[in-house]
Amino acid sequence: MPASSSGSLIDGRALAQDVKDDVQSAIEDWTTQGHRPPYLSAVLVGDNPASAAYVRGKERDCAEVGIETNTHSLDASVSEAALLDTIRDLNQDDGVDGILVQLPLPGHIDEQKVIDTIAPHKDVDGFHPANLGRLLRGNPAFIPATPFGILEMLRRSAINPDGMDAVIIGRSNIVGKPLAALLMQRTANATVTVCHSHTEALADHTRRADLLVAALGQAEYIGADMVQDGAVVIDVGINRVDDPSKDRGYRLVGDVDFDAVRKKAAHITPVPGGVGLMTRAMLLKNTLTAARRNAE
Ligand code: NDP
Repeated sequence: MPASSSGSLIDGRALAQDVKDDVQSAIEDWTTQGHRPPYLSAVLVGDNPASAAYVRGKERDCAEVGIETNTHSLDASVSEAALLDTIRDLNQDDGVDGILVQLPLPGHIDEQKVIDTIAPHKDVDGFHPANLGRLLRGNPAFIPATPFGILEMLRRSAINPDGMDAVIIGRSNIVGKPLAALLMQRTANATVTVCHSHTEALADHTRRADLLVAALGQAEYIGADMVQDGAVVIDVGINRVDDPSKDRGYRLVGDVDFDAVRKKAAHITPVPGGVGLMTRAMLLKNTLTAARRNAE
């Protein structure tokens, strides 16, 4: 790939708005055809301020595009059995299209059990094993919003991963693993390497990446020396670093040293204003899909 003096920005804000506009107009068509609006139920356990803020953000996004929501706020001390009952009730409720359980959950609750209890056809986060299995098999139903958002960003930016060496740093169930599965499919055709904390000589891998995805959760860890000239760099990380000049005392940065890496990359996503906004938009798309399935 050719070297570039300063990579072009993949503008997550604009792309996410495009996705939201598409979802909104699809919902308008849907309701014009006589269907009720899509309906998302969120389940929030405890009073973790970050989780509460995420759920409020999702409610606002839904309202913007015409998705109705309600949030079941449960006390941090709720028993696992009571939480599972809440989910089973939502599974049974024909008026609910999508169910979202905000993670993380308090330590006494088994997250996997909770995810496994959500009906797969309402699992808009795409974390249920049935949905992850379908994704791996190549006929996805619900794709987890972050990897889905990354693919959509590439598509809408006319970046075709076909034949690229894609290197993903991070192997979590919500980002790295599903993204690897998507990028290696015949629809994307990248050659995928997944790195993690036991990877030796990480930079040897990252330096040959045509497409580098950083999802390790380490502030500005990926420096320019780790990136090939002309690479496409997708920064998933969201990290807080102390910054007394900000009212809130911190600022958000990604896993990539943006200013340095931008000089080498052909395309790069910023943080904030990148993958995070696309992630939020793709949840809306998944909820619309759930409503369509529910109506069938
Ligand atoms: P996890 O903590 O679950 O996974 C991090 C992964 O990175 C692990 O596989 C870990 O390896 C690997 N890793 C950590 N340090 C290193 C290192 N020094 N070298 C190589 N690999 C390393 O994180 P998530 O996947 O949940 O999230 C990753 C980041 O993305 C976080 O900053 C998170 O906040 C952000 N995020 C952003 C989203 C968005 O919408 N933009 C959505 C979800 C997450 P190992 O498996 O060996 O421990």
